[in-house]
Amino acid sequence: MSKVYEYSGNMHMHTPYSDGEKLHAEIAEDAIAAGLNFIIATDHNVWVDEVEGYYENENGRVLLLSGEEVHNPRRQPQASHFLAYGAERELAPYANQPQRLIDETNAAGGYGFLAHPHEGAPEPLLNLPDLGWHDWDIDGFTGLEIWNYMSSFVNVLKREVKRMPIKHPFLAKLKALQLALNPQKYITSPEPETLALWDELLAQGKRVTAVGNSDAHGTPMNLGPIHRVIYPYDFLFRAVNTHILTQKPLNGDVAHDKKLVLDAIGNGRSWVGYDMAHSTKGFRFSGQGVDKGIIGDKIRLDAGATLQTRTPVRANIRIIRHGKTVAHIENETHLTHIPIEEGAYRVECTIPYEGKERGWIYSNPIYLW
Ligand SMILES: [Zn+2]
Ligand SMILES: [Zn+2]
Repeated sequence: MSKVYEYSGNMHMHTPYSDGEKLHAEIAEDAIAAGLNFIIATDHNVWVDEVEGYYENENGRVLLLSGEEVHNPRRQPQASHFLAYGAERELAPYANQPQRLIDETNAAGGYGFLAHPHEGAPEPLLNLPDLGWHDWDIDGFTGLEIWNYMSSFVNVLKREVKRMPIKHPFLAKLKALQLALNPQKYITSPEPETLALWDELLAQGKRVTAVGNSDAHGTPMNLGPIHRVIYPYDFLFRAVNTHILTQKPLNGDVAHDKKLVLDAIGNGRSWVGYDMAHSTKGFRFSGQGVDKGIIGDKIRLDAGATLQTRTPVRANIRIIRHGKTVAHIENETHLTHIPIEEGAYRVECTIPYEGKERGWIYSNPIYLW
């Protein structure tokens, strides 16, 4: 196979242009510290122009791009958040028409993803609404944000508060603090509902690309004398990221590199990695037959077609077709599968971390036809 280049990034975060704490240049410093190659800022209902480019310091550089997270502010709750990348224009005017929003994003050459599609029932004690995706009569979006670390925090918190024998706002706040101090102890995987939705859409023959993100805001939380930022940008940039593969290397030219990054994201040449459990760098999933392909490609299902996957360290590896595991191996670094049916094949890996098995790698599919 021809050489591929791997880059890691995070594509969902907020600045003071909406409800985040740090400005682009400061966030870029945090991204460099975390070893990311690219980040995309996505403020609520504002596309911030003229911030794109390489940000550098003595430790390296990061490509910062500008996207947008659009939702209808007149809707109650303010749910159905939509992430747009590469549209190069303001999309907020279409916020109240989800299908139009998707169509305008596509028409502008951008890619649209449903952000944190499942956020569980509202939690009245902590005033946490359901900010999942609610407007399902839509089509044509690029994909789903299958893992949003801040959303995982909210979902775990909602479940923990529901389990509390005594319901009291102060106890709920204490629970929130307990989780805030050690999120990695509680967060185990994307929402099973979101993965099931992804598999269902793939089974319908749709091309649906997954991304994984931080949703970093750097928001301070106060509980009496305890003041804590949940969570700093640099902490979240070491948690759930999206890794991309490109056929050419990034060369430092903003226009050239921006196109490579956006093409990889839009065409699913990528996986979602929980890099906090262990770096997912070096993961690969490829297909080989008459055609050769990498993650995101469509290749022909001929008699000799095989799928191969390898992980940077031992893991439990599964190859999944339309929600069904078709091959698996435990505590290994390689898994090969000979597919006999057409369809979308994706890889899921888990790894032990902090005393529990954790979701680690969620690759985009290779499509066999
Ligand atoms: Zn959101
Ligand atoms: Zn957000």
